[in-house]
Amino acid sequence: MIRTKEDYLKSLRDLGHLVYFKGEPVPDVTVHPSLAPHINAAAKTYELALMPEHEDLLTATSHLTGKRVNRFTHIHQNVDDLIKKVQMLRLIAHETASCFQRCVGFDGLNATYMTTYDIDQKHGTDYHKRFTEYMKYIQEENFILVGGMTDPKGDRSKSPSKQADPDLFTRVVERREDGVVISGAKAHQTGAVNSHEILVMPTMALREGDEDYAITCAVPLNAKGVILIFGRQTNDERKAESQMDAGNPDFGMVGGEALVVFDNVFVPWDRVFMCGEVDFCGSLVERFATLHRQNYGGCKGGVSDVLVGACALACEYQGTMKASHIKDKLAEMMHLAETIYTGSVACSAMGYETDSGAYYPDPVLANCTKLNVSRNIYKIAQLAHDVAGGIIATLPAESDLRHPEIGKYIEKYMAGVEGVSTEARMKILRLIENMTGGTALVESMHGAGSPQAQKVMYQRLGKIDMKVKWAKKLAGIED
Ligand code: SF4
Ligand code: FE
Repeated sequence: MIRTKEDYLKSLRDLGHLVYFKGEPVPDVTVHPSLAPHINAAAKTYELALMPEHEDLLTATSHLTGKRVNRFTHIHQNVDDLIKKVQMLRLIAHETASCFQRCVGFDGLNATYMTTYDIDQKHGTDYHKRFTEYMKYIQEENFILVGGMTDPKGDRSKSPSKQADPDLFTRVVERREDGVVISGAKAHQTGAVNSHEILVMPTMALREGDEDYAITCAVPLNAKGVILIFGRQTNDERKAESQMDAGNPDFGMVGGEALVVFDNVFVPWDRVFMCGEVDFCGSLVERFATLHRQNYGGCKGGVSDVLVGACALACEYQGTMKASHIKDKLAEMMHLAETIYTGSVACSAMGYETDSGAYYPDPVLANCTKLNVSRNIYKIAQLAHDVAGGIIATLPAESDLRHPEIGKYIEKYMAGVEGVSTEARMKILRLIENMTGGTALVESMHGAGSPQAQKVMYQRLGKIDMKVKWAKKLAGIED
């Protein structure tokens, strides 16, 4: 069982999964400069759980075993669990100012728990029992899972079975007595290179004819035929070059994403939780999306709190803190951060019990939260750029500061107020640059589904008919 950060690092080294980055295999992910920050961030989910003051948020009592487990492996049992999840995410974000990746698998576990129950009710299958056994195993081992939902999708105008290449959506290529063989890939997989297993789920609602694509199953990342290809991020080379230039050297910019390829991977039946039930793909996807959208005001709210602090510090170092427009802009940043957090708390508070017994956040409010995040994070970043100044785009490198000949000029001309070192000023400006840069913003836009996916949810769940009725009645219009 993994308890400490050291246990976690060892488990990743022991896993021996096949990871590529920039065309090279990565023999040990825990020491690679481009991967280590993401691992440090995910490790916080273990470290904080061991601290008595955070035990209430970071752990929960398993309804399956009665044991205390890491909350990231827990099935929500009430509204309090839903709210604690959001509080926990904000707390971890304060420690990392980055994505700690473990929520995706957490949400996949909860969505699959609810949906396997429903499938069994309708089809008389035994997926929920299998899944419950699997949950006990994950809780016991305290593993990190990847929430494997997003397929590459190829030609977006065509259904899975109509693609020129049938693997563009992950599918069952063979059904055997002892299990299934799957092929395909999952894209943009947050935390994949530092997780233990992937929970494969369908990427969208499916129709008859696409049964081979209706597959939910758990695959260890070291299974034969699984290949992970880690993606590039803005400024990722800086991680290897300089701690200071990296901005947030310990935890990186945002979660590390990978393309996870399944090249004829065998999955035994006890790890298969849906196979061909196209009628449940839509609800599984919607539940996963809702559970993940619930999070965004928590984690991004927490990251934004740190950004507000970084901006306040930079302004102090630069002597602008007393300017009234600076104070106003910092207040606006805080307002935007609290607004997204409010959404996460609200959708949790309005959560309800599903037939499986697991609790589920209000889907419309969770959706609203995520859509607000995709907007507010850009506004918060815009204000950060405004108050920090153009210096975050022109700042010389750490190697210039340390240079025997030109270092003195950097020291002299990059200085702010008296009594604050140039190095401190450069560090805080780099942190702001890192937190408001390319990859971090794009993740807030598209993580947990692109904004258009949230608009589609409004069209589906927004009860526009009812709203029309209210308006009609008030306007005195007869049917
Ligand atoms: Fe968790 Fe936020 Fe990262 Fe998603 S973006 S995995 S919710 S920290
Ligand atoms: Fe995300």
